[in-house]
Amino acid sequence: MNKKRIAIYPGTFDPVTLGHVNIVRKASEMFDEVIMAIAIDNYKETFLDLEERTHLCQEALVDIPNARAESFEGLVVDYAKRLDTNIMVRGLRAVSDFEYELQLALMNKKLSNEIETIFLVPSFEYLYLSSSMVRNIAAVGGDVSTLVPKCVAEVLKNKRYNDKR
Ligand code: ADP
Repeated sequence: MNKKRIAIYPGTFDPVTLGHVNIVRKASEMFDEVIMAIAIDNYKETFLDLEERTHLCQEALVDIPNARAESFEGLVVDYAKRLDTNIMVRGLRAVSDFEYELQLALMNKKLSNEIETIFLVPSFEYLYLSSSMVRNIAAVGGDVSTLVPKCVAEVLKNKRYNDKR
C-alpha cells in the first residue's frame, strides 16, 4: 500500500482568514491529508490565545473532510518528523511575502534536509488579505464577515463588545 501523503500547513493564524482556508482547500485536493498546524509561538505576542486560534481553525475546516487543525510546539521540522511527512505548504500572496517565505523555506531545509516547502497562491480575492488587516478592521468595529469564516467574525464581534463593557 502506498504511504499516505500528508501536508502540513504551519502558521500563527491570528486569526484564520478565508485566504488561509482557500490554501487548505487547494492543498486538500493535492494531498491525502492536510494538517493546519498552529504554532504556539513563544516569540510573538498574539491577539488570540492558542486555544482560541486552534478552535477557530478546527471550525473553519469542518467541511473539508481530509483536513484538520492542531497546535504544535517547537520546530516545525520536528513536528513534521513526528507526523512522518516532509511536505510543508505555505501561501504566497504579493511580492512582499516572497523574501520572508524563501528565507523560512531555506532555513527549514537547513534544519532538516528532507523538508520540501510547496508554495500555493490563493484565489485572486484573497491576494491582499492578511490576519493583521482583519485585526485592524475588527478593532475599529469594521465588518470582517467577507474576509474570515463565520466563527471568526462572531468571536471578533463578541471580543469588541466585551472590551467595551
Ligand atoms: P506566519 O506563519 O508568518 O505568522 P500566517 O499565520 O499569517 O503567517 O500565515 C500562514 C501562511 O499563510 C503564510 O505562508 C502566509 O504567507 C500565508 N497566508 C496568509 N494570508 C494568506 C492569504 N490571504 N492567502 C494566501 N496565503 C496566505
